[in-house]
Amino acid sequence: MASFASFHLSKPLVSALKSLGYVTPSPVQSRVIPKALSGASLVCQSETGSGKTHAYLIPILERIDVNLPRLQAIVLCPSRELARQVYDFAFAFTRYLPRLKVRLLTSEVEKSQNVEGLSQAPHLIVATPGRAKDVLLAEDRPLELHGVRTLVLDEADMLVELGYFEDIDALYATLPESVQTMVFSATLNQGLKQHLERYVDSRFLYEGEDFKTASTVAHHFLDVKHVGKQEALLRFLKARSPYLALVFSSKKEDVARTYSFLKENGVDAVHFSGNLDTRERRKAIRMIKSNRFPVVCCSDLLARGIDIEDVSDVISLDLPSDLSYYYHRAGRAGRFGKTGDSWVFYNADETSRAKSLLSQGTPFDHYALKGSELVMVASSPLNKTRPDFKPKISEEEARDISIAKARTKTDQVKPGYKAKRKKAVEKVKGKYRRKAIKEKIRAQRDKDYAAKAKKKK
Ligand code: AMP
Repeated sequence: MASFASFHLSKPLVSALKSLGYVTPSPVQSRVIPKALSGASLVCQSETGSGKTHAYLIPILERIDVNLPRLQAIVLCPSRELARQVYDFAFAFTRYLPRLKVRLLTSEVEKSQNVEGLSQAPHLIVATPGRAKDVLLAEDRPLELHGVRTLVLDEADMLVELGYFEDIDALYATLPESVQTMVFSATLNQGLKQHLERYVDSRFLYEGEDFKTASTVAHHFLDVKHVGKQEALLRFLKARSPYLALVFSSKKEDVARTYSFLKENGVDAVHFSGNLDTRERRKAIRMIKSNRFPVVCCSDLLARGIDIEDVSDVISLDLPSDLSYYYHRAGRAGRFGKTGDSWVFYNADETSRAKSLLSQGTPFDHYALKGSELVMVASSPLNKTRPDFKPKISEEEARDISIAKARTKTDQVKPGYKAKRKKAVEKVKGKYRRKAIKEKIRAQRDKDYAAKAKKKK
């Protein structure tokens, strides 16, 4: 699809898109917009940064009749921050479509403030499910819902995870049967698909680009060895000087700990986790977006969906319990075709989880910290295969073992015969092992001498 005009959108919307700087639709927009314009319900797997918000906003805006003073579309998001972000995107259009009315309903403000002015029905509401239910299904029903043509469930996997589906069910039950439901989710496992069946018969399912192989992100493992994760992070940041690094930890206590550690060591970092109250979170987002802080310490849930541009590095200080979240983290660095790097820090206790990630097929390379330097290594504990059960032995050694066995052979089975034979074989093997070690030491010494000689020249 070459341009937004080819979707046969109304002229004011095409020119609004142009004024807002949207010229070429992203792949997900090319797939979703025509289908959504037809009024069909759909499920779309899409990542933050793929342009999914506009994939649903554009058809919603096209289908809204601004001459009808009633609510026509509802977008539900799993967090206040996400809802605010979507609202801001939608609100930006009101500059070019002046009759369009958009409202945000979240716990950013008191419920009474949300209800204020609703007698003038907005065309589009962006909300978190809890607040949407509290306001829209309140006894006095401040708004008619029979005119709602579209419902969007954004970041549906998170909506499920955060237990929002009771509120969504209640709201859904009051909407017209013909309502178009659009579901967007970063992950689409079988459980979620089943969960969604009651809203959308998933006749149209767009499975987004496979993040595991997204070519814009390079994946790396970093073996922190005996160094603690935070110390390793500090060295890593010094060695790499990232433009903007998102540092993920699964637990919010770990996020807080990493943040404090970095601050104590003079790193300009932002703390972004569920420990913060609304005001602090808003401040954190402002700080992140100001591009003045090179490091953001965050947890998965909070960082999901927040549109942060120009992330150069994503660092996973641990792996999320659901490994599919790893790709979600990594995808934050490869938005809109930009390149980025995703680093997984691991220690000896974490090799088996790291190996599980590796076995999923994403190509990783391997790094280690040598002092203050970040160096690529050819072999790592993750790509070492188990040594053969029977190490290969030379012909000479095999011959000596046979001789030792033959010497200990007797016609009558005497007591201790087996132990004697074993001891003789072990003696031969020991001799060859010592020989191999001596050779290795000699080779290393020769190599060191050669290197020193080269330096002297
Ligand atoms: P998302 O979170 O996936 O909706 O991505 C949102 C980011 O992509 C925002 O910064 C948008 O302004 C930007 N975006 C969305 N659609 C386009 C487009 N067609 N061309 C350029 N940027 C876009």
